[in-house]
Amino acid sequence: MKIERTGIKRRDFLKATAITGAAAALGGVAYRGLTHLESVDAQSDYTTRIVKTNCRACIANCGVLAHVRNGRVVKLEGNPEYPMSRGSLCAKGLSGIQALYHPNRNKYPMQRVGARGENKWKRISWDEALDIIAQKLMETREKYGAETVFASTGGGGNPQFPSIPRFCNAFGTPNWFEPGCAQCYLPRTVTFALMYGGQMGCQGSDTSIADSQCLEIYYPDDTPMKSLVMWGTAPSNNSPAGGGRALSDLRERGVRTVVIDPRLTADAAKADVWLPIRPGTDPALMLAWVRYIIEHRLYDEEFVMKWTNLPFLVDPESRMCLRKCSTVVCKDGEYLVWDKKTRSPRAMPFPWDDRLDPALDGSYEIDGRTCKTGFQLLKERAEPFTLEKAAEICWLDPAKIEEAILIYADRPSGCSLGVATDQNPLSAQSAMGNAVLELIMGNVERPGSLLQRFITPPQIGDVPDLRSLLPHDQLLKRLGGIEYKGLLQWWAAHPTSLLDAIKTGKPYKPRVWIERSGNKMATLGNAAEWASAIEEIDFIVHMYMYPTSFSAYADILLPATEWLETDLPVISANMLFARQAVTHTYETMNETLFWSKLAKRCASLGHEGCQAACDPKRALGPAGPGGGGGEMVSFPYWDTEEEFLDLCVSGIGMKWKEFAAKAPIEFAPYNEWKRYYVYKQIDPKTGKPNGFATASKKCEVYADGFITLGRTGMPFSAAQLPPASKDYDALPYYEEPFESPTGALGKEYPLVLTSGRLAYYHHTTLRNIPYLRSIYPVPEIWINPVDAKKYGVAHHDWTWVESLRGKITARARVTEGIAKGVVYMERFWNPETLNTATHGWREMNVNVLTKHDAPFNDVFGTYTLRGFLVRVSKASGPPKGVWHKPEEFKEWLPEPSDPTEHAEVR
Ligand code: SF4
Repeated sequence: MKIERTGIKRRDFLKATAITGAAAALGGVAYRGLTHLESVDAQSDYTTRIVKTNCRACIANCGVLAHVRNGRVVKLEGNPEYPMSRGSLCAKGLSGIQALYHPNRNKYPMQRVGARGENKWKRISWDEALDIIAQKLMETREKYGAETVFASTGGGGNPQFPSIPRFCNAFGTPNWFEPGCAQCYLPRTVTFALMYGGQMGCQGSDTSIADSQCLEIYYPDDTPMKSLVMWGTAPSNNSPAGGGRALSDLRERGVRTVVIDPRLTADAAKADVWLPIRPGTDPALMLAWVRYIIEHRLYDEEFVMKWTNLPFLVDPESRMCLRKCSTVVCKDGEYLVWDKKTRSPRAMPFPWDDRLDPALDGSYEIDGRTCKTGFQLLKERAEPFTLEKAAEICWLDPAKIEEAILIYADRPSGCSLGVATDQNPLSAQSAMGNAVLELIMGNVERPGSLLQRFITPPQIGDVPDLRSLLPHDQLLKRLGGIEYKGLLQWWAAHPTSLLDAIKTGKPYKPRVWIERSGNKMATLGNAAEWASAIEEIDFIVHMYMYPTSFSAYADILLPATEWLETDLPVISANMLFARQAVTHTYETMNETLFWSKLAKRCASLGHEGCQAACDPKRALGPAGPGGGGGEMVSFPYWDTEEEFLDLCVSGIGMKWKEFAAKAPIEFAPYNEWKRYYVYKQIDPKTGKPNGFATASKKCEVYADGFITLGRTGMPFSAAQLPPASKDYDALPYYEEPFESPTGALGKEYPLVLTSGRLAYYHHTTLRNIPYLRSIYPVPEIWINPVDAKKYGVAHHDWTWVESLRGKITARARVTEGIAKGVVYMERFWNPETLNTATHGWREMNVNVLTKHDAPFNDVFGTYTLRGFLVRVSKASGPPKGVWHKPEEFKEWLPEPSDPTEHAEVR
């Protein structure tokens, strides 16, 4: 290492950077720290190279200019060319140098030598590691079946999660998961796919700002948007440099905002109306909005009549939209409506027949049955939810609810839904409520709307997941797959069904776990249940940038590249960027190469599926996330990163090196890319308007696609699957949370707990970064002053937080920024106690308190991460070994390493 050669020890580097404390290796400050090195190593080449790359400290991919000297990254700043962040970087992004040069990086492949959990390792080569893993996988498949091998990943820092289902499909196991499947974003991607026809991965296909949708908000001078509702989303926390910045510009331009969030977030503090909703009650409030909008005729009548399926008649038995009766049989694309002119059922062709005068609401006798329109059914579903009723359920002021609705009704407007509602058993119902609102308001593909079909980017970057390689009989073995068919869109298993199978051996026992993400102990519900299940696993592989609590249980530990060591194409608005590896440290490996090497080893051991995945003629699949939407491409496993990257950009006719040199590239001129009203444009093939990518080509506000999904697996499964145990519902509904403060448990555990993102961390990442831990050293429990007094807790007191499942510590923030009866605490873990018996996950981890078991959402199997009951009491002090003072984080200051060659692996 260079520092040793020049006689500068890490300690000296720390001394040099100590002038500015823990922040010394960040942005411009890092430059000062490394200038000290310059003065003692005059022979080195200190020409600064500036590399255009992209951050991946969260999923927003902000543009970065990385300053590199002598192969070392010395400074990061925002790239003003990136249209969504425009030169901004947040604290997480700026911490990239501390993450890259962290002294505790996983540097080499390691094999466990002590007992599981003892954290004793020996260094092995990549070849040895891959041989051991491949051998174990093949043996397990032979002995117990491929389905007993499973894999997992997570959103925090993994830009290539399709690599995981791809490997599983090739290997023949239906079981992979990420905590986010059932609990984050998937409920919204499925709902908008079924109701609006949003193609996952296309820009504008749902209303998530955190997931880089809602592109209309990034051009404040070019949008007529008048109002924006942020429902369970906090752009200034989840994507500060992109969404947060855009919101700030919009507010400055006069866009009025509503924030629905139990916390007074930065965006709530700036909102025209803040509704501090009781966690877990969102569909009740959404149905009240629907009721008010219908009652006051605030919806877009023309859009609802002509471009939604709400005028269609619904069969009371099958609950599907009617396509035939004794007098009419619909042709392709036709649905039955009640024609007011002839007072009879008639077939409405796509898109519309002016000779008909369809009834929007009402009940009609057809063949001796009472058939209602979709609109009538929606009205009836919303009927109980008056403003007063919603206020009572959601702990809100009815006048404030009305004020918020009237702001939303000031169109053009949008309602962005965040992750909050994905984290309780009403996940599908909340996503449906959001879709119903946006669709009846006609907030669709018009200037100022969030839902858009701007020109689709070229197929670039995402590997096809090769789901066609998974044999159908293996698909039928997916744990939770038949019951929770919403998971089919991401082709994933259900986490709790997997956990139950590990513990009970029923229907079979999963035995080998390959995990590629941060800290599963901090993201999965009821962490203690997972910790005990892990003991039952025969063999565990963990691949990540640094050790986490989960690593302590692994048999093989693999070093993954940080984002500053990674190449990948990135799409933003109408432009393509290149994340470029700025340097490389130790023996870290890009995960795409790891999965490929593993598949190739299994292929060489005779695995047919893996052989197919290496064969250009058989490794065919639609590119793009969700396994759908794109054209079929040949994408066989690769031998080198360059080969992989060349495949990634082959869709634009370039090799990676050429692309990286030219990026950023506009794939469409801004004015052409930003196109509106795509549904009205004429498709030259049919001579009719495009409509929407749903079964009816209309927006399906009465979402009978959910019923089809539950009964067959369509449209996400190519072949029909057995039905779920009960039908899914075509309309949103509300049920009181399982752990309700109004029930008996509320007497013992009186406070409703919610969580939510901070601006300093992404999922379970970065708790080992000194700069960020100095800002936010330990998790806070936000508590209203009234509750704090009641339970004897003062500001900054250490407290116990307890649920039915466990007990943890947090530091109290006594604040009016949280409603009475509600507390807030974000996920956390403590890397400083990794080498103790707690492995860092027991002390302050809110997921010790959360639920992993029933009730589940009927479509997705979502369990309760937010909106459950706790009690809070004063504790005597912080947990043993937990760091909470800025000076304690010095241990983790960066340890600059010379750049290294990529690891050579067979
Ligand atoms: S918002 Fe922050 S962490 Fe996320 S990509 Fe941008 S700079 Fe990185």
